[in-house]
Amino acid sequence: MTERGNLVLYSGCSGVGKGTIMKLLLQRDSSIRLSVSNTTRAPREGEIDGVHYNFITKEEFIALADADGYIEHAVYCDQHYGTPKQQVEDMLAQGYNVFLEIEVQGGLQVMEKYPGVLSIFILPPSMEELERRLRGRGTESEEVIQKRMAQAEKEMRYKDKYRYNVVNDVAERAADEVLAILAENK
Ligand code: 5GP
Repeated sequence: MTERGNLVLYSGCSGVGKGTIMKLLLQRDSSIRLSVSNTTRAPREGEIDGVHYNFITKEEFIALADADGYIEHAVYCDQHYGTPKQQVEDMLAQGYNVFLEIEVQGGLQVMEKYPGVLSIFILPPSMEELERRLRGRGTESEEVIQKRMAQAEKEMRYKDKYRYNVVNDVAERAADEVLAILAENK
């Protein structure tokens, strides 16, 4: 029988570069799978339904929540986000290490439900650098940037609840550190 994979809680503030590190992890380690979340927010340019997120309506989101279909779910910047339960369970049973790239409210729910979860928080080298990266993305309005910076400051307060903190100074190095954490916890 295939050995069950690890569930990995992977958080960090918006714009910190979690996605870039995640891409490297997926390229470097074929045992890693990223859970695809459901969200009510609109797709950004280049985002594909079913790949980056399942983009659904608020009514659909609430119906699945009522049916206990989420491992966790949360509201972030006025939009709903949630991790569909079935998909994650299937991948773990197939032996994959499943990463949940989610914000901290959802992260706390996961820590409570899965006390053994391997939790990793990605930090920016500084808050100034984080703001620079958020602006550099060029996809968000000034109002959204300000909202996300305020949110990021709040999220940083939760970093000590995570078992590991990884600073994203250079994405390749940060990815190496995450892989070393996975290897340590095999
Ligand atoms: P974005 O809109 O930038 O894609 O995501 C906003 C925040 O929501 C990010 O911190 C992202 O990690 C988080 N997020 C994405 N999917 C989920 C999810 O399923 N549950 C929770 N709680 N947060 C999520």
